[in-house]
Formats: sequence, C-alpha cells, structure tokens
Amino acid sequence: MQTQRLRIAIQKKGRLSKECQDLFKRCGIKFNLMGERLVVHSENMPIDLLLVRDDDIPGLIMDGVVDLGVIGENELEEVGLERAALNEPCDYTKLRRLDFGGCRLSIAIDKDEQYTGPQDLHGKRIATTYPQLVKRYMDEQGVEFSPCMLNGSVEVAPRAGLADAICDLVSTGATLEANGLKEVEVILRSKAVLIQRTGEFSEDKQALIERILTRMQGVIQAKE
Ligand code: ATP
Ligand code: ZN
Repeated sequence: MQTQRLRIAIQKKGRLSKECQDLFKRCGIKFNLMGERLVVHSENMPIDLLLVRDDDIPGLIMDGVVDLGVIGENELEEVGLERAALNEPCDYTKLRRLDFGGCRLSIAIDKDEQYTGPQDLHGKRIATTYPQLVKRYMDEQGVEFSPCMLNGSVEVAPRAGLADAICDLVSTGATLEANGLKEVEVILRSKAVLIQRTGEFSEDKQALIERILTRMQGVIQAKE
C-alpha cells in the first residue's frame, strides 16, 4: 500500500537515531519527535518518519513498505543474506553512505589464546548476532565452524562457556578488553547508509527524493 507521502524509516532509539534525526532536520525537514508515536508527519513536507527498531528497517525496504531508510550496513547485509537464502525479496538501492554509525564486525577470542590466522578457528563455536555474515566470511576462508546465535550479551559467551570465540560489532575495543578478549579478524567495516526500495515512484516522490539527496550532499559537505 503506497501512500502519497514519502515514508522514511529510521531507528527509534539507539546509536543511529540522534545523528539520523539531525541529518533530516539539517536537510530542512521539520518534525516534532516528542512522544511515543510510530509515525511522525513532517510539518513542512509530504514526508512521514517511521520510528522503528533498526532490525526492522531492511525488511521494510525490501518488502517495499517504506520508501527510504537509514540503516547500518552490518544489519542491511545480514538481513539481505538471510532473505536471499529464504528466497524472500531482498532488493534495495543504496543511495549514499553516511558519515556516522561507523563500526567494524570482528572476530575476537580469549586474549591469552594464540592466533595465527582464520584456520585457527577450525571447528570452533562462534557466538554472534550476525550468523549470515560470519558464515559468508568463514566459507570464503574455507574454515568450518559452529554458530551460536545470541541477540545480546555476545561478549560474555566465551567466559560463560557458551562459545570459543565471538563475532561482534566493535568501535573502540573497550568492551572486548573488559571481557578479556582480543580482536583477531575484521570481517566487515560498516557505516550507516541511506537506502531506497526498488520499484516505481510517482513523479512527485521522485522529485522529493532528489531534493533531499541534493540537500544531504550540501549538509555532509559542509561538515567535512
Ligand atoms: P534496536 O533497539 O533498534 O534494535 P540495537 O540495540 O540493535 O537497537 P544499536 O546498538 O543502537 O542497535 O546499534 C545500531 C547500529 O549502530 C549498529 O547496527 C551499527 O551499525 C551501529 N554501531 C556503531 N557503533 C557501534 C558499536 N560500537 N556497537 C554496536 N553498534 C554500533
Ligand atoms: Zn537492533
């Protein structure tokens, strides 16, 4: 069900939300984000913001439910691989990479353990929230492993005896260090990206998207 208004999905609360809201505000889109609403209408443009969990954003785009979305590449690629494996729609267009949300998806092991290369992970159990990305990387390396899917507390899995290694998002490395782990492989470098659903757009919507992109270009250049 397509609406006349352009629908943009952004993370409601988390590491991407503030910079995402700031970006759209600087692009001249006015909205009032007070309260607990899922949909917020812009006050000056035919745009609705959808405030959701970041995990839901790739699917909303791939199912064509919203027009644009801002999401971390890590989440986008994980969901894309999962949907492709299930033969579900997984297409989208990347409009531009943004200048926030930077992190890396890395494999980490006990800091006292020896490590010479990916083959050292052979037969190990790896705890992660990103099983598809880990599998893609390990397949590329030709190394077999067992997954351990965790949606939280990944970094404590080795100490808790649930896994031998982890694959998790890292920015400073402080969390790894606090848990007695060391980073041994970076499997993905991620940033937030602006994505668009595939399929037809009305002329009005297309023109609005182009206007937003032009403004965004200016906003991002001004910051550099
Ligand atoms: P939600 O409640 O929306 O599901 P979440 O807990 O899954 O939130 P956040 O922790 O807010 O997600 O992270 C959102 C995104 O921010 C990540 O997917 C990643 O792209 C990016 N990010 C940047 N730095 C980090 C970091 N150090 N750790 C985790 N994510 C990071
Ligand atoms: Zn999430």
